[in-house]
Amino acid sequence: MPSTRHRPAAAVSARGARRWDSGHPWIFRSDVVSPPDSSAGIVEVRDQRGKPLGLALWSPRSEISLRLLDRDASATIDRSWWKTRIAAANARRAILGGRTNAWRVVHGEGDGLPSLVVDRYGEHIVTQLSSAGIEACRAEIVAALIDLFNPSGILARNDAGSREREGLPRETVLLHGDVPQEIEIDEYGVRYLAAPWTGQKTGAFLDQRENRHLIGQLARGSALDCFSYHGSFALHLARNADTVTALDASAPALERAAENARRNDLTNVDFVVADAFEFLRDREHDGTRYDTIVLDPPAFAKNKPSLPGAIRGYKDINLRAMRLLKPGGLLFTASCSFHLTKPLFLDMLRAAAADSGRRMILREFTGQPIDHPELLTVPETGYLKGALLEAEN
Ligand code: SAH
Repeated sequence: MPSTRHRPAAAVSARGARRWDSGHPWIFRSDVVSPPDSSAGIVEVRDQRGKPLGLALWSPRSEISLRLLDRDASATIDRSWWKTRIAAANARRAILGGRTNAWRVVHGEGDGLPSLVVDRYGEHIVTQLSSAGIEACRAEIVAALIDLFNPSGILARNDAGSREREGLPRETVLLHGDVPQEIEIDEYGVRYLAAPWTGQKTGAFLDQRENRHLIGQLARGSALDCFSYHGSFALHLARNADTVTALDASAPALERAAENARRNDLTNVDFVVADAFEFLRDREHDGTRYDTIVLDPPAFAKNKPSLPGAIRGYKDINLRAMRLLKPGGLLFTASCSFHLTKPLFLDMLRAAAADSGRRMILREFTGQPIDHPELLTVPETGYLKGALLEAEN
């Protein structure tokens, strides 16, 4: 192919090449034997003998130097290539069309599109370009998204801290059309507002959709949603529970939750601004008990060194929530800390159950929904764990 002649090329060590063979798309700086003589963008990758291994995104400033795009080194990465890849990712989510109007169309490495996130909120798209290499492909990606989805607007939430490691500015920029401050989402018939410009992640926690539906269907009696944010679990609980307390440390988050409850004509939700640790401790002492509890805290373990402290935090809230359950009560508990692996999450729950004095049944163990695919060979694509527990006594 003539195109390969003009492409800048990188040579990588045998260890770098082995990473691709094992199904992981990243090659680190220490395995780049000869870096490409070019700015961030698409480069050809070769082994030390010059054999072409594929095409990658090149990030000159990052520890993650090369991210695999295509094992075919003669491929042309243009608008139509992006279209084909993004369409394939979207096809994997076809089933979601009957459940919601908001889902993750592209989950980065999990969809073979490293460092790219594309979330769809109704007619609008919110994207995250988190490497220098992918940023260099922005125009083609935007063109592909317009061809595929004809969206009313595309917003880039490029404000994550990880962009700094790539030498990129942190910014929120409109790339196409218009994107409003609020977009109404329909999730299994529950309506809530996403906040694409200012909300967490790209405007909502899409990754908990199926878990909200799961516990929402089983909810009953008096329910408690700790770490409620915009109330999305609380709204699902309120459809079947008698009363729901939505708790969060953030008053503005709960104002939005209250607005969401009104949007669904739900009048059985009350909102409590409080620290969840203190609230759970106080209820344990005053004897309040619940039929249904949800714990969906932020990531307590932001990095490996913080893991032991994080595990103590998770255990504390889970142990107290278990004690607050009426006999037969249900607890849905989650962790989105990447560093708290599935085995560690279960170990933490076992330790909490042992100390709680309750006999807890593990009814379901959940992970990520279909729109956040976890690739077994790329551990970084998996982070969300959930458990549905029932108090036996
Ligand atoms: N369950 C939500 C997402 C929760 S995000 C959903 O499905 O959409 C985590 C939330 O925890 C944030 O809103 C944050 O304000 C809140 N939070 C963080 N620390 C807290 C604490 N100690 N007590 C109560 N809320 C806390």
